[in-house]
Amino acid sequence: MVDDSQLPLLDAAWLRAFRRKLPAWYARNARDLPWRRSSDPYAVWLSEVMLQQTQVETVRPYFERFLRELPSIRTLAEAAEHRILQLWEGLGYYRRAQQLHRAAQVIQSEHEGRFPQDPAAVRRLPGIGRYTAGAILSIAFDQRQPILEANTARLLSRLLAYGGDPASPAGKRLLWAAAEALLPRRSPGRFNQALMELGSQVCRPQAPQCPECPVATLCRARIEGRQMEIPLRRRKPPAEAVREAAAVVSRRGRVLLVQWPAGRRWAGLWDFPRFAVRGRRPPDIHRELVENVRRLTGLCVRPGLHLKTLRHGVTRFRITLDCYAAEYLAGRHLPQKHLPIRWLRPAELEGYPLSSTGRKLAGLLAAGQPGAGAGVVIQSEGDS
Ligand code: SF4
Repeated sequence: MVDDSQLPLLDAAWLRAFRRKLPAWYARNARDLPWRRSSDPYAVWLSEVMLQQTQVETVRPYFERFLRELPSIRTLAEAAEHRILQLWEGLGYYRRAQQLHRAAQVIQSEHEGRFPQDPAAVRRLPGIGRYTAGAILSIAFDQRQPILEANTARLLSRLLAYGGDPASPAGKRLLWAAAEALLPRRSPGRFNQALMELGSQVCRPQAPQCPECPVATLCRARIEGRQMEIPLRRRKPPAEAVREAAAVVSRRGRVLLVQWPAGRRWAGLWDFPRFAVRGRRPPDIHRELVENVRRLTGLCVRPGLHLKTLRHGVTRFRITLDCYAAEYLAGRHLPQKHLPIRWLRPAELEGYPLSSTGRKLAGLLAAGQPGAGAGVVIQSEGDS
């Protein structure tokens, strides 16, 4: 059941005023973003998937390049996953790209290559939840479908002065009901975009710009002076520090890459073999490196120089990655037992989708000096 004690606020006069003020503000203030120049469902869908968990300015060049390379659902469905991951490299959350690919194949096989307009069919596509379905159907087909994502959840919580947790089941029910009640019959897609724009540009998380807000007179949180308390913020669990090591294994001028399997972080991407370690420096870390490279690839290596320490975050983990050179000695790679591997020249790494740290190491290799025996030695050391 929806706890709709806040919804009476949305009476007919309030709704009329809100539906007048918001589109008028959007007409003057909408940013010119590449995905707003088209109502092609494929472009809308791609932008919505890329924008999940990712900033607009980060997405912009990825969106333009992806659309240039794979301009239709058919070209996406027929592309190799390797190519899609290359185009996605650096954007993170690679599962999104793999689900996009699978959904394009479903659209080709079950919907004759045309993006479905039936909400139930859209929700059955891989990677498409209620928000994404609502965004595509409203923006591309002008269907009266509500949306709720981080920006609009914050905006609606403040408009209603909802003091509960917007991510709780009760909070979601209330806010989805509000998002639905707000929607006008005319141009619901543009209205949804205006809601997101107001949430992201004016009703900001830490500093809502109430004096500039076109709906300030309708906002219960502002009227009550509670806009800084709303929405209720969940305390994030502290980041967990993790130590990992990576091995740049060389053999006759080539380096060893592994491909991460489904279900692992960076599934489908290529990387230098890496693993969690307990040791911090040789000889402990060398021993762990030898064991782990053998476990992952079946190959026996001799560890060498410490090359670099990279620090990066993945979800709630704060990872310190110690990168070591290593030299191939012997061993047998068994495809049925070990990760897929490739021996590549540094110049060939450009053609492979790599993890973010893999790409940093590849950049160092490209700038590094060939060393005797090991093939490639990186002398630099430091943090990034
Ligand atoms: Fe957000 Fe302030 Fe506008 Fe209310 S008045 S919607 S808190 S920016």
